Amino acid sequence: MRRAILGGTFDPPHIAHLLAGEAAYRQLGVDVVTFIPAGAPWQKADREVSDSVHRWRMTQLTVEGIPYFEADPREVERDGWTYTIETLESFPPEEELWLVLGADAAAGLPTWHRYREVVERARIAVAPRPGTDRRRIVQGDAVWLDMPELPISGTELRHRAREGRSIRFLVHDRVWDYICTHGLYRAETDNMGPRP
Ligand code: ATP
Ligand code: MG
Repeated sequence: MRRAILGGTFDPPHIAHLLAGEAAYRQLGVDVVTFIPAGAPWQKADREVSDSVHRWRMTQLTVEGIPYFEADPREVERDGWTYTIETLESFPPEEELWLVLGADAAAGLPTWHRYREVVERARIAVAPRPGTDRRRIVQGDAVWLDMPELPISGTELRHRAREGRSIRFLVHDRVWDYICTHGLYRAETDNMGPRP
């Protein structure tokens, strides 16, 4: 079994995550791309993260119907902080693992908890992202994924939604529906406008 792991807060999951997953599947020769929403992401201890029930559901909706994508709940089901190494170690040792990271995340990799073990257990695939200098990626054998650089982030999408600007088509249509139905990311006065 060869697996690419795409972890994230997924608050919300958006099209750059889908493109990174697609590129990983096409380029790395893996059987499956596993999207793993974080439980309590230690890198984001300083900000409010949407309830993991919502992030889990939106991740499921994002991958639904794509045979080589799957969503895995192991981090949202675990209590306490989430460390990538623990997630990697929770897969059978005989599995060949790739870890897919946006360029920003890949540049920060050496600061991660048990970093050496992370890069021993998984090979790194990097999704290009605007604003990150390629020379900042120190992992010499990292593979760059072939996808357009998209200047979007969960943070940006949450801000847009809060300001009443549309994020439709920046997230999967099913995720857009979910966000509208549950009123996620809205300002207190709902100014998203009527749904078509
Ligand atoms: P936030 O702004 O909340 O941090 P995010 O868009 O960075 O959201 P995450 O859930 O933190 O999304 O990211 C999961 C993974 O996807 C990370 O490795 C991140 O670097 C990568 N990623 C997110 N957005 C992009 C993008 N536009 N291009 C390439 N990689 C991305
Ligand atoms: Mg991020």
